[in-house]
Amino acid sequence: MSKQTQNATAIVVGAGPVGLTAALTLQTKGIDTKLIEADPLDRPRPGSRAIYLHNATLKLLESTYEDLGFTIAKNGIVWPVKKTLFKGKEVYKRDYGVTDPANPEKLPPFTALHQDHIEHFIYNACEEVGVEFVQETPIERCETSPQGVKLTSSSGDTWEADYVIGADGARSNVRKTIGVEFEGPRTNDRFLVLDVKEDESAPLPLERIFHYQHPAMGGRNVMHVPFKGGWRVDLQLLPDDEVESFSEPEKVKEWLPHVMPEKYIDKVTWVSTYRFHQVVANSFTDNNRRVLLAGEAAHLFAPFGARGLNSGVPDAVIAADRIHQATLASTEEARIEQIDKAAHERRTAALWNRDSSTTALHHLQSDSKEMNVKREIAASLTDVAPKLGRWLDEGPYGPRFGSPEVSTKY
Ligand SMILES: Cc1cc2nc3c(=O)[nH]c(=O)nc-3n(C[C@H](O)[C@H](O)[C@H](O)COP(=O)(O)OP(=O)(O)OC[C@H]3O[C@@H](n4cnc5c(N)ncnc54)[C@H](O)[C@@H]3O)c2cc1C
Repeated sequence: MSKQTQNATAIVVGAGPVGLTAALTLQTKGIDTKLIEADPLDRPRPGSRAIYLHNATLKLLESTYEDLGFTIAKNGIVWPVKKTLFKGKEVYKRDYGVTDPANPEKLPPFTALHQDHIEHFIYNACEEVGVEFVQETPIERCETSPQGVKLTSSSGDTWEADYVIGADGARSNVRKTIGVEFEGPRTNDRFLVLDVKEDESAPLPLERIFHYQHPAMGGRNVMHVPFKGGWRVDLQLLPDDEVESFSEPEKVKEWLPHVMPEKYIDKVTWVSTYRFHQVVANSFTDNNRRVLLAGEAAHLFAPFGARGLNSGVPDAVIAADRIHQATLASTEEARIEQIDKAAHERRTAALWNRDSSTTALHHLQSDSKEMNVKREIAASLTDVAPKLGRWLDEGPYGPRFGSPEVSTKY
């Protein structure tokens, strides 16, 4: 049976938060954009995932579409206190004071809310500007030529476009079929991540708490992160732990009361276990400079430091901006230069982010003797050298500064 071919200037593959941001940016620049998604758009998505958006990400979303950053911020929370404990002893505490997440004048330093809600607000903005959605259409193949791109879905339908942004997640068919590969290791450390719903009648104080070697959890690291309406609890498993002994629903009910009040055992909404990949695509574009990769199609990091979506958003915005510039270019060389700039800048950022989250993981490693000694010494000296408490607090997130290429300005 002959199948239909449709044309578009730009197509984004994947309606996750990164693809939505890419489509929104292209459309606001006057480029008619189709967004093709494998699943139904109202599909349930598991877990809170990207609950922490940096101020820079909110600013970038705000500059892409007026009020988007403020809308996301006012629907999230800002926790005023962060604390670190070592074997149960507090070694660091910082109280920033209360920030009004709904301040219409100033975006907060960060916001914390469920990733589904973030996606919902970006999706609404896409609808408002007229992005065309094609759902339940998995793209199988992406072929490029100097003239453009052809996408083929699993049912054989085809689309032709001048440019494609591949935002189809970790298993990206766009990435695979343009011949680009992930490079980098998978970590050995295993983490269990769970969400619990807040008890709104008697909520816990809004504090981000990191426990090194929690005494009630057999010396495992535990992190509590509040987000709007709930908490995320990250438990770092020890090398010999059997994952099921912690992840099975009955097992969760046994250990959770050691780290949270007992009432939360009936409020668990998501449990997942991870071994993180630390990988970056060996190129963010194809040989013909017609495709740019963004978000998890281009890189995967351990979540410490919240580098996933916080770098996926600039990937998307910069890809869309450079595609816009490429459509205005008067020569082939100028067109290629625009695409290369986006690919180079975002790959440099991804490599930096990968190295930073590797540093964070090393800091957390439970079986590293050298790190254990450093942490023990630091924790024993925080009363006389408070800077060491700060080192313990910041370690799990990796370096906070960035190379110039990581900047979202260009
Ligand atoms: C436990 C955990 C905690 C995290 N915490 C944070 C955090 O605090 N802050 C942060 O910044 N990041 C965090 N992240 C990372 C963040 O969740 C990801 O970076 C983000 O979801 C990536 O978005 P994406 O749009 O690139 O990919 P995805 O969200 O995976 O979206 C890809 C989309 O493409 C679609 N698709 C797939 N294949 C095809 C196809 N063949 N054709 C068409 N469509 C397709 C999928 O259905 C999906 O809708 C966390 C992740 C995890 C797992």
